[in-house]
Amino acid sequence: MPLIITKAIVIKAKDYGEYDKLVTLFCPDSGKLTVKARGVLREKAKLKFAVIPFNYGEYVLASKGDYLSLSNCTQIRSFYALNRNYDVFKCACTALKVLDVISGEGNREVFEETLNFLTALCESDATDGLLLKYMTDMLELLGFLPDLSGCVCGKNQGKLYFDSCNGLTCECCKGESDTLIAPKQLRIISDSLHKGYAEAKIGNEAHESCVRLIKDFFNAKIDGANI
Ligand SMILES: [Zn+2]
Repeated sequence: MPLIITKAIVIKAKDYGEYDKLVTLFCPDSGKLTVKARGVLREKAKLKFAVIPFNYGEYVLASKGDYLSLSNCTQIRSFYALNRNYDVFKCACTALKVLDVISGEGNREVFEETLNFLTALCESDATDGLLLKYMTDMLELLGFLPDLSGCVCGKNQGKLYFDSCNGLTCECCKGESDTLIAPKQLRIISDSLHKGYAEAKIGNEAHESCVRLIKDFFNAKIDGANI
């Protein structure tokens, strides 16, 4: 029986039959995997922890014909601190939603970025600042980040607008539904790309509207996304 040994983060899990769960993992090399976890709903199950969302561990999976079965897991981090308040938990769940919609195949950078984001959220309540950093980094890693230096036509003077499909537009190129983007918002988004999570943990002011813009852009770019 072939075994797969891989690091993974739990994206989600649902009950399957009386005592089993179907757990969705995100792995650095294999991307999203659905795994049957037998008996984890039994009272004394040893691997209960291995199907809890956000659990990060080294998983041992057995390939059983047309499905994978959870054979063992060594926990690396539970990320339990994400449960400390609702805002932090909701913000962290955004990362799981992102992994769920993007992860056809593995991506080590996406995996590392997500671990860094969750680690920073365990230590700070600056949810908007951290989420903005995560979302812009993810767009960049996936090759979807728009040019933030000016309109698609090359113009970077005057008022700039944000088109959730194409990125920045100028007064001449803008479409009807494009929203005006303030220079300060643009600066906050650009800055979030270049600073580390340590800095993102500090500032949280005025990030909410930027997060909304980046989420809209993400949803427009990624099929099936509703972040
Ligand atoms: Zn233009």
